Amino acid sequence: MGRAGYVKDLRKIAADAATCTRCPLHERATQTVFGEGSAAARVMLVGEQPGDQEDKQGHPFVGPAGHLLDRALADSGISRADTYVTNAVKHFKWQERGKRRIHQRPNTGEIKACRPWLDAELGLVGPRLVVLLGAVAGESLFGSRFRVGEHKGQAREASAGEWHGLVVATIHPSAVLRGPDPESRDRAYEGLVADLSAARKAAAL
Ligand code: SF4
Repeated sequence: MGRAGYVKDLRKIAADAATCTRCPLHERATQTVFGEGSAAARVMLVGEQPGDQEDKQGHPFVGPAGHLLDRALADSGISRADTYVTNAVKHFKWQERGKRRIHQRPNTGEIKACRPWLDAELGLVGPRLVVLLGAVAGESLFGSRFRVGEHKGQAREASAGEWHGLVVATIHPSAVLRGPDPESRDRAYEGLVADLSAARKAAAL
């Protein structure tokens, strides 16, 4: 299939996902937030789920964590134009706290239910490198026993559906933002950039 065919199929799958009811998360979220980016991207970044801003705007990584990720990609030498960004879970799971909607971690059933969408994205984009951002992305690809801390920054070969390539796990950018003080946030950010740089080198990008 030519590249135009892959783009068309990606759009078709995104349209199908817009009406997905495979798990209960669609009931309270504003909309499905599907992946976006180049259909020919060599790097796919997989986060956890859309946040409050992403849920409202309908695009992945457009909130504060997305801005931080853009900076970390630039600092690690990965071109944003060469990336496709998505989430392991495509609907926002939240709980009410005052006037705010606070993120809630998706459970194993919800992560599994959403996995076919990620497999479809992997198969159609066919990235050389997948970067798993945080524990939920790790669980989606490798199961609930996967611990990001044990594999952080290490490249390994992996398969998912029709896709085969390199995978590197690191922290989610929101973990940097949650740091209690500027020093710990700086340290976490440097760790994220180091992992992204290691991933880029391992994939010879
Ligand atoms: S979270 Fe995923 S599986 Fe659940 S309804 Fe949304 S798109 Fe479907």
